[in-house]
Amino acid sequence: MELIDGKKTATIIKEELKVAVDKLKSDGKGVPGLVTILVGNDPASEIYVNSKIKACGIIGFNSQTEQLSADISEEKLLAIVESYNNNPDFHGILVQLPLPKHINEDKVIEGISPKKDVDGFHPISVGNLVIGKETFLSCTPAGIQELLKRYNIETKGKHVVVLGRSNIVGKPIANILLQKKDYANSIVTVCHSAAKDVSYYTKQADILIAAIGRANFVTADMVKDGVVVVDVGINRVDDASKKKGYSVVGDVDFEKVSPKCSFITPVPGGVGPMTIAMLLKNTYEAYLKYGE
Ligand code: NAP
Repeated sequence: MELIDGKKTATIIKEELKVAVDKLKSDGKGVPGLVTILVGNDPASEIYVNSKIKACGIIGFNSQTEQLSADISEEKLLAIVESYNNNPDFHGILVQLPLPKHINEDKVIEGISPKKDVDGFHPISVGNLVIGKETFLSCTPAGIQELLKRYNIETKGKHVVVLGRSNIVGKPIANILLQKKDYANSIVTVCHSAAKDVSYYTKQADILIAAIGRANFVTADMVKDGVVVVDVGINRVDDASKKKGYSVVGDVDFEKVSPKCSFITPVPGGVGPMTIAMLLKNTYEAYLKYGE
């Protein structure tokens, strides 16, 4: 069994981006810019946003946060998004979700220019993904594909079983790996809560991607020998031995499942760290394609 080290891979990607940014600077060019729009004071969102800002600083991106009050009107928020659509210093716009209830999230996502949609949530980006056109891929699924690529894991003709059909993980990763492209070209099955017997599908997986948000849901009897497991789940479970009183586990029972795997991502330290790395990569691509 080989561990897929997302933390190390994310660090390598950030180092590669830093080298690229240093080169832009030494050539006298501008640098990629990312603006994060944060509405309200959700502590989890603030943690995410701070780690994005920190990463931008380390690699030399221009970064800015718009910290907006929770009672901002939808109209005002849309106007702010539009102002960044027209601001040449920023190549990527990220609106931190979730938004307060009085704001229509779909409307705000659709307000972001597809040229700056580095989160890959705009319907145009999603549509382009489905029809196989070049586009911004949403960051967590892009990170999964990048891990498979960097660990040289064959995907062509392999049976990928995805657990979960959310718009941010399940559906996009299924569509990414379905494409007739390198590091994809898989036979894809997507399972969700209507599946009567999930293990019927998981046992057939050459590559199993679990994204359902249920602690230790995938057990050893549900997978075949040699399977590649990508565990996207982030779940808190009570743990009296920890100072915080909980520990974070994935959707896969790592201890029991990992001996059967050829490769597996740990939680934490697997898919999680890749999300920000891919956000930065998308911002760099946006700069190259539409900026400078
Ligand atoms: P989500 O929106 O809650 O969707 C969960 C999906 O799992 C749904 O499609 C649901 O089916 C399906 N599901 C739930 N129970 C199931 C069961 N018993 N059998 C089969 N399918 C089942 O979740 P998400 O946003 O995709 O997130 C999934 C997990 O990944 C969470 O733990 C989340 O924290 C984590 N995550 C991690 C990252 C990262 O590492 N950067 C990013 C995003 C999410 P229905 O559609 O039928 O309801």
